[in-house]
Amino acid sequence: MRLRKTIRHLGGRIIRFGMNLIDSSAVVLLYHRVTELNDDHQLLAVRPSNFYQQIEYLKKNYNVLPIEEFCHILKRKRKFPRGSIIITFDDGYSDNYTTAMPMLESLKVQALFYITTSLLETRQEFWWDQLERIIFSNNKIPNNLNIVLDQKKYSFSQLSANTSKEIYSQLHYLIKMSKTECRKKIFEQLRKWAESNFEARETHRPMSRSEVKKLSQSQSAVIGAHTHSHTPLSLLTYHEQFDDIQKSKIILEEIIGKEVKYFSYPYGTKKDYNSISLRVVKDLGFDMAVINYYWPVHSWTDIFQIPRIIIRDWEFEQFKNQIARFLT
Ligand SMILES: [Zn+2]
Repeated sequence: MRLRKTIRHLGGRIIRFGMNLIDSSAVVLLYHRVTELNDDHQLLAVRPSNFYQQIEYLKKNYNVLPIEEFCHILKRKRKFPRGSIIITFDDGYSDNYTTAMPMLESLKVQALFYITTSLLETRQEFWWDQLERIIFSNNKIPNNLNIVLDQKKYSFSQLSANTSKEIYSQLHYLIKMSKTECRKKIFEQLRKWAESNFEARETHRPMSRSEVKKLSQSQSAVIGAHTHSHTPLSLLTYHEQFDDIQKSKIILEEIIGKEVKYFSYPYGTKKDYNSISLRVVKDLGFDMAVINYYWPVHSWTDIFQIPRIIIRDWEFEQFKNQIARFLT
């Protein structure tokens, strides 16, 4: 197993090295949150001091491109200037506005913020944060949990510190693979079971409409769409995908008063979208779209499937190594 992993890792390095000899590469970084959390089971947060250090380092040592320039180069299939990078954020957490934006502004660097629109002004958290809160931070929850969905019963018992991680990942999968109506039914049952108050915690809330507007007015921010409901597009028909993506585009354009030209597929792995999604994104007139796949960008990369490197709250040395791996 380890040998196979090593061979794959080496193979990837050789292929990347070869490709980078032919054509200089660029990388697209993927962040979610800039904040400090006590618990971060999904590893979405980068501490503010780390984030500042990372961006400051990129600014000094690499070529952090404005979003439109990156798109312009890729659209025309031109070679990227050596060491090209762009910074992106997914989902639309409030800390993107309160913490990341001022840091980007002070360093004069631009980032692209992809926003899911269904939670703007609902005072609710993203479903994965609600789930995390129910499973990990509520001491009073009863032991047995039964979820009934379309006459099928899912039972979870002996909820303790040892099993809660497993239950979280099972429920995470069940909810992720559900459409909006089904997801609502699951949360109604979870809410009842945990007797939980679902008003968003200040530490976990999505941006409000006015924050999105103010963010869009910054020289350091460009706004992109990330669907309305944050459902894996591969679960949906052409029309459902079209409606979900178009709705987020229209809402965002109405808030910011500018055209929204960039799109990010929810979850973004190759299982989470399909050829229909590519068609919808083109039919809606987007200029480029990003996925969640560890790989550099070259002049021949499909502009509607741009790979990204997800950034965790790494130690600085690890961060530097990760960037260097993809940019030679
Ligand atoms: Zn997302």
